[in-house]
Amino acid sequence: MVGANGRRVVMLGAPGSGKGTQAEQLAQRLGIPAISTGEMLRSAVEEETALGHRVSDVMARGELVSDELMAEVVRDRLAQPDARAGFVLDGYPRTEPQADTLDRILSDQGVELDHVIFLDVPERELMERALARQRADDLAEILEERLRVYTGKTAPLIERYGSRSLIRHIDGNRPVAAVAEELSRLFS
Ligand code: AMP
Repeated sequence: MVGANGRRVVMLGAPGSGKGTQAEQLAQRLGIPAISTGEMLRSAVEEETALGHRVSDVMARGELVSDELMAEVVRDRLAQPDARAGFVLDGYPRTEPQADTLDRILSDQGVELDHVIFLDVPERELMERALARQRADDLAEILEERLRVYTGKTAPLIERYGSRSLIRHIDGNRPVAAVAEELSRLFS
């Protein structure tokens, strides 16, 4: 059990693991915002903001936006009043330097991370889900790049948070409702 105060949550998982869906459902249940960096960047691209112009090519290739730029985006977002009581972060951190930045942002706020949820889904299942979903950046070769980036840069964070005893491994290879129910029980 996480307890009523454990509301600063990071959702880790590969592209297509269902972390966005679960982050939203969990956040709604806990009454805190789901913060998806991917969604924030996609909106910026759609709205053609300065940020959108800087990230659109990188995103289209399935690569990562720079740690420096992401630090600004996340620091600003976590400073918003709605995030002060907690958040479910989806898509950040994705690299070791981003995890360092998140620690720094939270310690500057006088708080710390309470929980990291790792949604574990086998790679074969990820490919199948992505092909069914067909988002623009889910085209097969872009997806392969996204998975490669995930394996090389993001997956090592599982160990980092594991060594701080923050992480919960959740079997993500089940129907959405079954995963949501397990997460709900964790936070009850
Ligand atoms: P997502 O919806 O989380 O898969 O993110 C979509 C795309 O946005 C990624 O493939 C990256 O290009 C970019 N992105 C989202 N979050 C981050 C992040 N934390 N660091 C770098 N790039 C990111």
